[in-house]
Amino acid sequence: MDGWEAGDEILIEPGTYCGKCHYCQTGRENYCDYFGIFGETEDGMQREFVSIEPKYLEKKPEHISFVEAAAFPLVFLTSYRMLIRRAQIKEGEKVLVLGATSGVGSAAIQIAKLFGCEVIATGGSKEKLEFARSLGADFFINHYSNDIVKQIRKFTDGQGVDVVFEHVGSATWENSIKSLAKGGRLVTCGATTGANVNIDLRHFFIKQQTLLGSTMGDTKGFKELVKYLHEKKLNHILDKVFPMSQVVEAHQYLEDRQQFGKIVLVPD
Ligand SMILES: [Zn+2]
Repeated sequence: MDGWEAGDEILIEPGTYCGKCHYCQTGRENYCDYFGIFGETEDGMQREFVSIEPKYLEKKPEHISFVEAAAFPLVFLTSYRMLIRRAQIKEGEKVLVLGATSGVGSAAIQIAKLFGCEVIATGGSKEKLEFARSLGADFFINHYSNDIVKQIRKFTDGQGVDVVFEHVGSATWENSIKSLAKGGRLVTCGATTGANVNIDLRHFFIKQQTLLGSTMGDTKGFKELVKYLHEKKLNHILDKVFPMSQVVEAHQYLEDRQQFGKIVLVPD
């Protein structure tokens, strides 16, 4: 069975794909016409048994638990594709990560630091900014302050950031665009606060900037990430564990934006 043995401990690639189409054959599984996500387009993992194709499996590192491992794949794969494949961050570049304690945000800080970037993180409280610091962020901004752009200019000697890591949408868009340096890239994977945004085309073309959309990631990227996890170069970002009987409380915890990373549901 593809080198797997009974009892092997595994991690599961979160995206599903046909494996046969033009996109899958060229390593772009997340462009697959049949692309899906476990727990979204098909049944997820909140069950006792699952039958799954071996192509989605990777070995779980021994040093992390199953619950910790569950907090890893989806957000890291999303952030990795955004920063590495799409924005193509380089050593020494300055990266603005919005929502440092969100799943994708906390993954993005770790990935940008791993690739030698300087990271500016935003968060909504002192505790959240401390959390960003613990992940390696170099500079912190409370996103409720009204001079975000000014603070970013200060940190970047007036230049702005090379890359903005967006997933918030309309609430942050204006500041995100204004924070971008000449030749900067804004990469986004979400629109949590609203999908309609404005852009001043004059600034956009004169500063020769780039907008990049991104969603999920490819299998090669997932294998690379799991390797970093095995090498302890990246860490899971498990915040809290709820029993399934408290699924309502778990959702409320997320909706109240209390989380620092990911939450995981386990059987009672
Ligand atoms: Zn396909």
